[in-house]
Parts: sequence; C-alpha cells; structure tokens
Amino acid sequence: MALASPVTKRRPLWTAVCRAGASEPAGTPPNKSYCGTSGEGNLRVLLIVGSWHFILSNILSRRGLLRHPLKVRVPKTLAQQFKAIGYEPKDVTYLGLSHMHFDHIGNVGLFPASTLLMQDEEYEAAFGPDSAKYGNDPASYPTLKANPVTRLSGDHDVFGDGSVVIKRTAGHTPGHQSLFLKLPKTGNILLSGDLAHFSKNWKHRRVPSFNFDKEMSVKAMDDMAKFIKDNKATLWIQHDLEQNAKM
Ligand SMILES: [Zn+2]
Repeated sequence: MALASPVTKRRPLWTAVCRAGASEPAGTPPNKSYCGTSGEGNLRVLLIVGSWHFILSNILSRRGLLRHPLKVRVPKTLAQQFKAIGYEPKDVTYLGLSHMHFDHIGNVGLFPASTLLMQDEEYEAAFGPDSAKYGNDPASYPTLKANPVTRLSGDHDVFGDGSVVIKRTAGHTPGHQSLFLKLPKTGNILLSGDLAHFSKNWKHRRVPSFNFDKEMSVKAMDDMAKFIKDNKATLWIQHDLEQNAKM
C-alpha cells in the first residue's frame, strides 16, 4: 500500500496501492488500488498498473517464465487516476508499502521524492545482502533506495489523529504492515496487504508455506482480529476474489 499525506493547504489525501500486480492466475480479481481523501471519506476503488506490467514482464522473462508478452488491459494508469482526482504523484508525501513482494510494489517509481514508511526488518529484507532470500528483487524497484525513509518498529499514526494508522503485522514477511483507515462515509477499514490472502485463510488462521514465520503470522492475525473488533472495522483482503467482487 502507499500512503499520501496532505499537501499543504490542500485537503488531505491518501491512497493505498495494495495490489499492483499485473499478472494473476485466471480468476484472480483485477488489480486494485484505493484512493480517496481522508477528510471527506471519498473512497474510490481504482484499477491501476501502468509501469508494473513492464517490471513484471522483465522479471518473468529473466527467469525464463514468460514465453509470450503479457497483455494487460489498463483502462487508466495510476498517474491518470491521480489527475482525475486533482492530484499528481509528486503530491504524495509518504509512501507506505505493505511489504516488498513483487505484486505489491507496482508504481513505486512514480513517487521518487515521497518518504518511505517501512518497518526496519522489511527495509533490510528489501535492500540488505539477503534480499533474494526473502523473495525480493531490487531490480524491480530500482528507484526506491533513493527515497527518503522513516524506518518503523511498530505501529505508526501517520497524521497523528488516528485516521491513517500503519499496523505492524509481521509474519508474512519480516516487516509486513497493514493499514487502518477511518473514513467518514465508509467507516473503519483495515487493508490487509498479505496478512491473509483469502477469507478462508483468515477464518481458519491458515498460513501459506511461503510465509516468513508461521507463528508470527498467526499472532498478527489474532492481534488484528482483536483490533478490528475493538475498532468496529472491516477487513479488506486484497487477494480475495469473493470480497473483491462485492466492491
Ligand atoms: Zn506477499
């Protein structure tokens, strides 16, 4: 996910780019990002991708996994979508990513000057010597290292008013984080990132074998279940076909 903070004297803006992959198995929902203004709760669900298609094609080609060029229908790029709501990517002050897996980092190159808000361990996994061990490929986010960064070691209230809060949910990756939003019209929501991939996994606390740490993954789900209950929030699961269909 990516966060945007207010531009001075303009209404607060946030955007959460939670799913940015261009290639998904058949039946997977279209890639979506969520964009709106925190002041007005003007929630919009947008289709994105843009440069991501190119990045993914490159990765797959390099790995010999792509025989034919990917064809992705992108009605509007993320940059175009920004324009439609009266902003530009350069207006984004903060950039928060749920984690560094390749299907969650599309379009990060649009925000070279934004301050990255990332858990310490995730930053190490992204840029440290063991990035490949964590399934990360720095070649797919070549501009990100130059971004200013605030390294986190826990939850982070982005604007100090509780309206946009990063929740540390490590387990899927070493420094995975989810995003809590208080929206006047839509209500409170938690954007999961890959806290859980599907509703059934969430319900039964199933942990995919490729997660970084099983115990941490289950604890993160338990913690967030309590948080969701305490805050009367709805969980949005980015990979879930059933839930996406209702949006
Ligand atoms: Zn992931």
